[in-house]
Amino acid sequence: MSLTSNQTIFLLKEIGRTIEDNKTLLTELDGAIGDGDHGINMNKGFAAVVKKIDDMQTEDIGNILKTVGMTLVANVGGASGPLYGTAFIKAAVIVAGKKEINLDDFVKMMEEAIEGIKMRGKAALGDKTMLDALEPAYNSLNEAVKENLPAVDAFKKMTEAAFQGVKYTEEIAAKKGRASYLGDRSIGHQDPGAVSSYLILDTVYKTIKKMVQR
Ligand code: ADP
Ligand code: MG
Repeated sequence: MSLTSNQTIFLLKEIGRTIEDNKTLLTELDGAIGDGDHGINMNKGFAAVVKKIDDMQTEDIGNILKTVGMTLVANVGGASGPLYGTAFIKAAVIVAGKKEINLDDFVKMMEEAIEGIKMRGKAALGDKTMLDALEPAYNSLNEAVKENLPAVDAFKKMTEAAFQGVKYTEEIAAKKGRASYLGDRSIGHQDPGAVSSYLILDTVYKTIKKMVQR
């Protein structure tokens, strides 16, 4: 598997569409344990991203992802903006100067993205945040790549693990972010950031699956 700048832009636009389609869901989830703006925040951020990257086809993927990160930081008011923004900016460094990236690049990008989120938000696994979807997803992807699974199968494992991570957030109390103010009352609800992370990764899987079949 490899992705060109053009395909990366296509993938990011697909992510933008997924976020738009799930705006209400994300906002409702955040309404239950936060302040009810996660869908609005994410949609505002990705709508700005889609506009910004539209004419970046001739740029390298590092530049594209850096633009994504900076646009999210600048356009998303909530905690999730700087966190997702940092994730994309960190991932961008890994592929600086590259106009084509492969599965190994993607694994490294995801590792750096997660490190960036941890550095910025100081959360850990089990704190009921986006990390509870992202970390298991990364671990499954990494394992699948080490086992030499085809890219589409590896991405499928990744998205399945992210979904399990979302389910896990239902069972635990939030220790970071606004939901932590609720303590144990946050149990029984999915974490909105974990759901948005799952949706992003699931769109990566579905889009790459379509690209490979073409
Ligand atoms: P806000 O909480 O400022 O309203 P959002 O509603 O957009 O921002 O995002 C909330 C999501 O951000 C949470 O569901 C959680 O997944 C994520 N989040 C909040 N704080 C942290 C943190 N310190 N580390 C990682 N993720 C976090
Ligand atoms: Mg919120």
